[in-house]
Amino acid sequence: MINIAIDGPGGAGKSTIAKAAAKELGYIYVDTGALYRSVGLYALRKEVKTDSADEVVPLLSEISVELKFIDGSQRVYLNGEDVSEEIRTPEASMAASNVSAIQAVRDFLFDLQRNIAKENNCIMDGRDIGTVVLPNAQVKIFLTASAEERAKRRYLQLMEKGQEVKYEDVLKELQERDYQDSHREIAPLKPAEDSIIIDTSDINLEQSIDTVVNVIRERV
Ligand code: C5P
Repeated sequence: MINIAIDGPGGAGKSTIAKAAAKELGYIYVDTGALYRSVGLYALRKEVKTDSADEVVPLLSEISVELKFIDGSQRVYLNGEDVSEEIRTPEASMAASNVSAIQAVRDFLFDLQRNIAKENNCIMDGRDIGTVVLPNAQVKIFLTASAEERAKRRYLQLMEKGQEVKYEDVLKELQERDYQDSHREIAPLKPAEDSIIIDTSDINLEQSIDTVVNVIRERV
């Protein structure tokens, strides 16, 4: 199977770019952030402290997370409920970042990610795909952009969805999450040694997709 790993900080356009590239190449697109968000959402609903391993780990035995691919588009199910939209709030983002620093949570989601990659040609996006989940991926891309540019894009995306947010809050939340994701002990966000770094700060979406597709085509 052909496996492509795309990692990078929040708001770098990973999901939009990876989704479009996967469509063009005929692979499935796997958004692993949705898995951490689902666990985070469950912890939020149970009103536990999402950064406390003692409180989050016991919940894992109550959780089943499943990904389904409908017409190439991913839906995520938490105990059978489609939570694909609900996991997109800023609260769920922070909860995802918190629970994702817990080793037991990462172990809990590991096989699911590996099995999808074993059975499908896929582009998988996340934080540790090239470093931990798919260290043998044929192509590893680290997609990044400046914090301000990423915050601007995320802000516009949320506004489009009708979510009332302030740019300053989006920027602060992204920076906080970046810091937390890059400084955690387990599977921190960092480029794999053999990854190709693509900075999309000064190129538009179409150019970013072309760059990613070309990088992949040249290598598989
Ligand atoms: O990619 P997304 O922003 O949806 O991810 C939400 C959070 O889940 C990230 O901030 C990160 O903490 C965590 N995550 C992770 N490893 C992945 C994907 C996401 O730790 N492979």
